Amino acid sequence: MKNCRICKSKLKKIINLGKIALVGNFSKSKIKHKKYSITLNYCMKCKHVQITEYLDPNLLFKNYLWETGISKSNIFLIKKLLISLKKYGIGKKSKILEIASNDGSFIQILKEKFKCFAIGVDPAQNLAKKARSKKISTINDYFSYELSKKIKRKFDKFEFIFARNVIAHVKSPNGIFRGVKNLLSNDGIFILEVPHLLNIFKENQYDNIFHEHIGFHSLKSIRDLCSLNGLKIFNVELIDSQGGSIRCYIKNKYSAQKISKKIQIIDNLEKKSKLFSNKNLDNFEKTIVQHKQKINKLITGLKKNNFRISVYGASGKGQALMQYAKINNKLIDNVFDKSRLKCGKYTPGTNIKVLEPKYISRKNIDYLVILSWNIKSEIIKQEKKFLKDGGKFIIPFPKPMILN
Ligand SMILES: [Zn+2]
Repeated sequence: MKNCRICKSKLKKIINLGKIALVGNFSKSKIKHKKYSITLNYCMKCKHVQITEYLDPNLLFKNYLWETGISKSNIFLIKKLLISLKKYGIGKKSKILEIASNDGSFIQILKEKFKCFAIGVDPAQNLAKKARSKKISTINDYFSYELSKKIKRKFDKFEFIFARNVIAHVKSPNGIFRGVKNLLSNDGIFILEVPHLLNIFKENQYDNIFHEHIGFHSLKSIRDLCSLNGLKIFNVELIDSQGGSIRCYIKNKYSAQKISKKIQIIDNLEKKSKLFSNKNLDNFEKTIVQHKQKINKLITGLKKNNFRISVYGASGKGQALMQYAKINNKLIDNVFDKSRLKCGKYTPGTNIKVLEPKYISRKNIDYLVILSWNIKSEIIKQEKKFLKDGGKFIIPFPKPMILN
């Protein structure tokens, strides 16, 4: 992919991040994981930030190890969303479609709360199976314009369509928007959540860059996608998800829906932060290189002083950061994570054994690096005994720091 995924214009390179193993590729034993190159770019015309590489999605998503149901913070976010949905008239008669429905957790909540009809689409076989076991109808496929035609023939149109944390993953964001346009009822609402480029830049979250995340979005890029596909944003919220995301409320282009003032506010925020200035975009390389060196130096220094260091978080971003900053099995004893799908396995590219958090103890750890920093307060609360016993946490962003 040499051209912009949104507007097809030419790309300019920000940084070549080298080669990393796929962040979801946990293995049953220590192996030499296959590595793939990764390069960050921006579009010279619309400024959409994106990686060039696009791997076979079956490599990434067919057996997906991230389950919606797992994090408490995530459940909390969903509950807050339900309040907004009520305002927009969701109810018994609403037909709902969720794109990338994962294990069906979100649909299950909607069905329980609103007694509505809802179906999901998800490409991961393991997750679709899990969702179906909870009686959540799930189409096991990638959502696209083509698939939207099949869905329309069977179910007609929908009042609510959700795409939470998926637009960053797709090769053709225009295909998703075109499919949504095809399935959205006249007065229907499309609700999309995506990590906000603003935070990625402001807080230097380059650990968000890995092969599953190919596009880094802003209010501007979502608006561009809307206008290319006969849709418009009428409301936007900043939400505390994935290190700071935007939730966009979208309707058909000709809808009479009033446009929220919040659009102008966030638009100004993006402009004021010079998010799309070439200088700012080009400078990101330097910021990334400096951060990588800083965190590596901190951990290497502790290791030299014989401290025992482990990591909390086997999430994608954690596995990306470990590989970019060369935080490997020479420095780290174990990785802790709640995901039962990952426990007992070895981390991609760094071959460190993943254990359940119940094994976290001062007996075997001096420093715990929190790589799932987006849920750091949840983790710190959960591990307060470790802290009380004299253990220390390392928080990687925005600047690496020790918490005790
Ligand atoms: Zn573009």
